[in-house]
Amino acid sequence: MTKATIFDRILSGEIPCDEVYSDEHCLAFRDIQPQAPSHIILIPRRAIKNMREVKVEDAEILGHLLLVSSKIASKEGLESWRTVINTGSEAGQTVFHLHIHIIGGRSLSWPPG
Ligand code: AMP
Repeated sequence: MTKATIFDRILSGEIPCDEVYSDEHCLAFRDIQPQAPSHIILIPRRAIKNMREVKVEDAEILGHLLLVSSKIASKEGLESWRTVINTGSEAGQTVFHLHIHIIGGRSLSWPPG
């Protein structure tokens, strides 16, 4: 069995979070170290390590997460925002439970570092 991540502990209620959205498939909460005025983390309740591990049967939850990310951004009042999924440590992934960053509320530069 893989070790429980901090996001598993948030899902189980062991660690509190600043929740912004919840449904039977996913949970969203404010990032503890926000990189912008709006910085929200959206996670599936099902443990998927990252985008390298996704399977055909994850198509529905992946689509759902994208739709929910748009709903959350609108609720935050964002007209422009960035959705980021870091995959693997070299890409900056530090928590190995798939998550979408929803980042907005300031100008964002491109390309990313
Ligand atoms: P990543 O680097 O893509 O794996 O993103 C992990 C994100 O989770 C980082 O932006 C962290 O600041 C955030 N994070 C870690 N622990 C918590 C927590 N307890 N509550 C909210 N966000 C967290």
